[in-house]
Amino acid sequence: MRPFGGRLWDGHTSGLGPAHLACRCLLAETEAGLVLVDTGFGLDDVSRPILRLSRAFYHADRVHLEADETAVSRLRRMGFDPGDVRHIVMTHLDFDHAGGLTDFPHARVHVDAREAAASRRRFTPIARGRYRPPQLDHPMREYDAPGAPWFGLPTLRGLEGLPPGIFLVPLPGHTEGHCGVALNTGDGWVLHAGDTVFMHSELQEPLRMPPLVDAYARVMQVNQEARLQSRRMLRKLAREHGEEVTILCTHDPSLPAGAERRVSA
Ligand SMILES: [Zn+2]
Repeated sequence: MRPFGGRLWDGHTSGLGPAHLACRCLLAETEAGLVLVDTGFGLDDVSRPILRLSRAFYHADRVHLEADETAVSRLRRMGFDPGDVRHIVMTHLDFDHAGGLTDFPHARVHVDAREAAASRRRFTPIARGRYRPPQLDHPMREYDAPGAPWFGLPTLRGLEGLPPGIFLVPLPGHTEGHCGVALNTGDGWVLHAGDTVFMHSELQEPLRMPPLVDAYARVMQVNQEARLQSRRMLRKLAREHGEEVTILCTHDPSLPAGAERRVSA
């Protein structure tokens, strides 16, 4: 996404021209096949943006759609068969995370039950803009039973067909059922924290958040208290277990320092 505002968004683009924001997905090779965390925008968004996306978000975020940048195309370029993606674990169901679901019709999709319910309600204009029925036209497994805590954080475990080292970590506030997705790599953990933070600098000391990111986070939140509490929990995790857990968010264009140990760009 390339919204105007430059460094006021991403903290480093010079001037106030287009910033460059990522829509980061993760691909994991597991004993249960390929597992995708989030899907970004998909091929149908590229070919029919007006039908699939809300006009307001499409223009405000200046969504830059390229078939080559979709998860399904990137997977093919990496030499994988997209048909081998058996599972997709969703941080939440916003338009910039769920657009690729329809590119993987045979994958089993896992999501927090509160998020699935919110995506069906769509009471407010923002909810109608963020949750797009044509993107969400995919069967989903929903979870709401709390599992054993992980580094003190709540979890939803037992994702059907997935290894036990992959589970949801509820971090609500941005949306009602927003979660992080934890993955045990065998050599430490990766947590895809979705939109709990928009920039990795929100996890550092002192907390830094470019002003337009702050404004956007407020516009998109469903519950400010919950969002700030989720961010506090994530900051505590980074502070106390930063060596054991690599924390990534969706929209920061850069990986955090040291992330290459457990993920590649
Ligand atoms: Zn997002």
